[in-house]
Amino acid sequence: MILEHPLSDEERAFLDRVAAFSRDEVMPHADDWDHDENLPREIFTKAGQIGMMGMVAPKEYGGGGMSNLTAALAIKELGKAYAALSMDIAAHNALAVGQINRFGTEEQKKKYLPRLTSGEWIGAWALTEPSAGSDTGGIETKGTEEGGQWRINGMEKFITSGRTADLVVVMATTGQTGIGDQVFPRGTTLLPFRRGRHQSLLHGILLDINGDIRELPRGLD
Ligand SMILES: Cc1cc2nc3c(=O)[nH]c(=O)nc-3n(C[C@H](O)[C@H](O)[C@H](O)COP(=O)(O)OP(=O)(O)OC[C@H]3O[C@@H](n4cnc5c(N)ncnc54)[C@H](O)[C@@H]3O)c2cc1C
Repeated sequence: MILEHPLSDEERAFLDRVAAFSRDEVMPHADDWDHDENLPREIFTKAGQIGMMGMVAPKEYGGGGMSNLTAALAIKELGKAYAALSMDIAAHNALAVGQINRFGTEEQKKKYLPRLTSGEWIGAWALTEPSAGSDTGGIETKGTEEGGQWRINGMEKFITSGRTADLVVVMATTGQTGIGDQVFPRGTTLLPFRRGRHQSLLHGILLDINGDIRELPRGLD
């Protein structure tokens, strides 16, 4: 295979760390974690210490500034040791960190990304609903602003790390129109994790966020 973007020395060293982490810290425990349906929080901290919690995110926010190719190879390597952890870390990077990095305000990036990229926080991203998966334009979760706060009403399913995440990026409609608003709705909101049920390590959880009012930052607009 010919790679158009060969890896840098820094990226190769990172992948060596990922391989050692997967072999020494993850693989020996994977069966127990799967049996107990519980991933220890420390494993995410360790993943952060070797740079896996913000692989592509810019260095100025604590990320590694690495290529998507390197991130994919790292996720593949970790997946050989334990697919559920690999999925959690992939979603954390590509969905939670990725969305904030791409669509967040400068204030939000400074506030949230260093906590996520260091592994202090686990991030999740909630789009899928019981009646809307691939059809992102059909999501029914609603975000309405009331006196500087957002009220979020909706039901999400299959949310990777939904039970354990410290921060969830929720996709919600805000009554505005247009394709862009439907796919990445204005008013997409960051909120601290609250509750979930129906845990399954690989499949994520069902999040019931009906009726909550939180002090939330403004959306990713
Ligand atoms: C392991 C795992 C982790 C996940 N993590 C997350 C997460 O962190 N956050 C999150 O929000 N979601 C998550 N999901 C949900 C995932 O994004 C959805 O499963 C996906 O969007 C598909 O939605 P659905 O299951 O409702 O299937 P549906 O949308 O009902 O699709 C069913 C089938 O119909 C096909 N189909 C749908 N629409 C069309 C169309 N218009 N034309 C032709 N074919 C069509 C699809 O290709 C598919 O084969 C996760 C799912 C899995 C399995």
